[in-house]
Amino acid sequence: MLDRVLVKQLRAIVGEAYFRDDKESLVAHSYDGTPMLQALPDGVIYPESTQQISDVMKLLASRRVPVVTRGSGSNLCGGTVPVQGGVVMVMHRMNRILETDLENLTATVQPGIITSEFINHIESLGLFYPPDPSSMRISTIGGNIAECSGGLRGLKYGTTKDYVLGLEAVLANGDIIRTGGKLMKDVAGYDLTKLLVGSEGTLAIITEATLKLVPPPASKKTMLAMYRDLYGAARTVSAIIESKIIPATLEIMDNPTIRVVDAYAKLGLPLDMEAVLLIEQDGDPEKVERDMERIREVCERERADRIEIASSREEAEKLLTARRSAFTALARLRPTTILEDATVPRSKIADMVLRINEIAKKYNISIATFGHAGDGNLHPTATTDARDHDEISRVERAFEDIFAAAIELGGTITGEHGVGMVKAPFLEWKIGAPGMELMKGIKQAFDPHHLLNPGKLFAKETRKRVVIDHG
Ligand SMILES: Cc1cc2nc3c(=O)[nH]c(=O)nc-3n(C[C@H](O)[C@H](O)[C@H](O)COP(=O)(O)OP(=O)(O)OC[C@H]3O[C@@H](n4cnc5c(N)ncnc54)[C@H](O)[C@@H]3O)c2cc1C
Repeated sequence: MLDRVLVKQLRAIVGEAYFRDDKESLVAHSYDGTPMLQALPDGVIYPESTQQISDVMKLLASRRVPVVTRGSGSNLCGGTVPVQGGVVMVMHRMNRILETDLENLTATVQPGIITSEFINHIESLGLFYPPDPSSMRISTIGGNIAECSGGLRGLKYGTTKDYVLGLEAVLANGDIIRTGGKLMKDVAGYDLTKLLVGSEGTLAIITEATLKLVPPPASKKTMLAMYRDLYGAARTVSAIIESKIIPATLEIMDNPTIRVVDAYAKLGLPLDMEAVLLIEQDGDPEKVERDMERIREVCERERADRIEIASSREEAEKLLTARRSAFTALARLRPTTILEDATVPRSKIADMVLRINEIAKKYNISIATFGHAGDGNLHPTATTDARDHDEISRVERAFEDIFAAAIELGGTITGEHGVGMVKAPFLEWKIGAPGMELMKGIKQAFDPHHLLNPGKLFAKETRKRVVIDHG
């Protein structure tokens, strides 16, 4: 609970209406996109400017009150659950595009802008901002930066980190820093821009970002390759890369995912197939034709049962939208959906798919798998029920085995969703004890009193459940 004097001071900074501590506001900001995690904050604040954030941080730091920065709360790692209470800082009022610089091909934005609104604006100017997380209609650019989000176009175009040129951020003590700029080159000291990208709200509050824009591709073609054998589909992914073609998109959906996505999006997907690959190439029309022909040959060699090319842009968009809706569609199956994002080198994608299926069988649980296969980034998704404690415990153990398998294959515990709380106990598996100590040292340098998003990254507990009395 925050004392009355502090609440009055916070309201004086942001305005009466923009600090809330009524029960509805607290409950609404006690959870995010991650199932089975909830903790009440003591207050919710909606700043409008960098200066306000700086003033708020100076005040909260002097009182040692924790702060959880929040975009839309769509993360899947418990990243915005205020496990140690304190204030949730919602960035939605800071949602403006401050500048689009057509000479430098950059855009400078506030962090609270919704990703798809930004992308649509950029496309209306005849330009292209590739990072396209499937959640882009709800996620914010600030959240994308703090999680280093990826999307369907990651294989060819990279992820958020490849498009952040400069940042403005407020530190835990209220100081304002600027990193990078409208620069294609900058080696002045440590790369603080890259350090803040993916820092999950634990190092600083991002208040402005300068993003790189690129020219849009001249043409696109989209293919659906259908397989009776999941392993064959997964093998095709490595075979395409091995043949030195980098498609713009290379996604996999297994049979359970195909079924729910089709029931949801009504596309007439092949329900009898064990897997489909959604493949898109873009660029110069002649090169696109050539690449698609070679990709077709690889798919046939790996025993694709059928291959179809989308006949129009609308049809292609429908397929991409269907893939983006996979998580939402799976969430309709059972009360609780736990989606992870273990990632392996692309050459190991088929091995990983096999391992996931073996692990699901071992623990007798349902796991559907889809994901950015071309990036080696799979989304094994357990459809389960939080009320069934025995099943949930088997799901948890299965995911531990999946993370271990990913590491064993040279991969990582998370490719794009971040560590947050959910994967904190496994971070050391990936980076080792000396890596953990170094990261803790970085945290200490930025945030000596552990006020920014405490209980994340270095936590020992995973899906901690906090029961809230809604009465
Ligand atoms: C249906 C669905 C599909 C998804 N698909 C994808 C996908 O394809 N690819 C992918 O990478 N992710 C995906 N996600 C996960 C999620 O949408 C992303 O992590 C997204 O970037 C989070 O954005 P947000 O605005 O909701 O951030 P939030 O969830 O609010 O916050 C995420 C993290 O960023 C921090 N943060 C937010 N804003 C700031 C800021 N201004 N300064 C400092 N820290 C900040 C928070 O403290 C938190 O740690 C998906 C989620 C859902 C629900």
